[in-house]
Amino acid sequence: MNVLVINCGSSSLKYQLIDMKTENVLAKGLVERIGIEGSRLKHETAKLDDKVVIKQPIKDHKDALKLVLDALVDEKHGAIKDMSEINAVGHRVVHGGEKFSGSVVIDDEVIKALEECIELAPLHNPPNLMGIRACQELMPNVPMVGVFDTAFHQTMPKHAYIYPLPYELYEKYGVRKYGFHGTSHRYVSQRAAEILGKDIKELKIITCHLGNGASLAAIQNGKSVDTSMGFTPLEGLVMGTRCGDIDPAIVTFVMEKENLDINGMNNLLNKKSGVLGISGVSSDFRDIEEAAANGNERAKLAIDKFDMRVKKYIAAYAAVMGGVDAIVFTAGLGENSITNREAICENLEFMGVKLDKEKNNIRGKEAVVSTEDSKVKILVIPTNEELMIARDTIDLVK
Ligand code: ADP
Repeated sequence: MNVLVINCGSSSLKYQLIDMKTENVLAKGLVERIGIEGSRLKHETAKLDDKVVIKQPIKDHKDALKLVLDALVDEKHGAIKDMSEINAVGHRVVHGGEKFSGSVVIDDEVIKALEECIELAPLHNPPNLMGIRACQELMPNVPMVGVFDTAFHQTMPKHAYIYPLPYELYEKYGVRKYGFHGTSHRYVSQRAAEILGKDIKELKIITCHLGNGASLAAIQNGKSVDTSMGFTPLEGLVMGTRCGDIDPAIVTFVMEKENLDINGMNNLLNKKSGVLGISGVSSDFRDIEEAAANGNERAKLAIDKFDMRVKKYIAAYAAVMGGVDAIVFTAGLGENSITNREAICENLEFMGVKLDKEKNNIRGKEAVVSTEDSKVKILVIPTNEELMIARDTIDLVK
């Protein structure tokens, strides 16, 4: 059984074709700049390390998917002989609101429910829906499954997800914490339990997904009980360009002082803040670390602010769960930044967290990086959201 995993953004379509017998990736790629000048497909297959780039106008997501399907069955660069070898499609969907607490087979009713969630994720759900519709048109007989970023966090208790705002806002508009990156938190927590040889139902795990967007999750008995992102992916940690937690009074104060309207303020909080805002250097930690090493004080400040906030959330989530057995680092920064992992774990020895500096000297691969006598195990686990989506898809269409 082969599953095609699709992740659509407003102008992009990422895909992987996975053989579920072996869980090997047969082909993967990315369509960029859909509907914009300079659109192209980058496609690669597992065999022979074959890579191709096709540059041509791609007007919409249906056009993009058609190009992907052609590439997959291409005689020279393809991975399969014909379309009948795609047995199911798994779609990453950002927001499932309160309607979806797990993955689902996509039918007309699900599509209707997804349309109702657009208000909660106006930037993300419309392109996800475009991907679903493109598949319906181009491969009408292939079953599809939707896997939601929010679903894993639907197990949070109400006192974790309710905001201290007038309760009617929750009732009228669904203003509550939803949380994101759920597929990643779920994958790395399951993998951590496997690596530690323990039943996930007996573990308290804190997963740190530290990429451009970043979030933590507190996972008890395999269930998310709290997470740092909120109503939108803006809450919580300091991110590449997003501010995370701030005093909400700053919003109206700055709008007045800087004469900003809603769009202007939204842009400031989402695109100009975070480590980019503090450092003025970049949103990418590699650039910031380099600047800090060359003596740039604000770059150093941005790193310190980022690390301190991750540390605060780790301690808070240990308190929420009444302890912690394992801390997992994942995503671009979590998997690759040796120095940030070290800074985050520093001073957490009081709660049994002891990083082994030598073991921590790795990038981008699975490892236990705590000392033998550390009460809390520290793990680095590269995330694999595509595989999680493919596994859910197979489970549901079998
Ligand atoms: P996204 O949220 O876009 O999926 P990723 O998970 O790919 O992000 O993470 C991207 C971020 O990871 C980069 O912006 C960069 O800050 C960080 N990163 C990647 N590699 C390294 C590295 N070697 N050292 C420090 N930071 C890194």
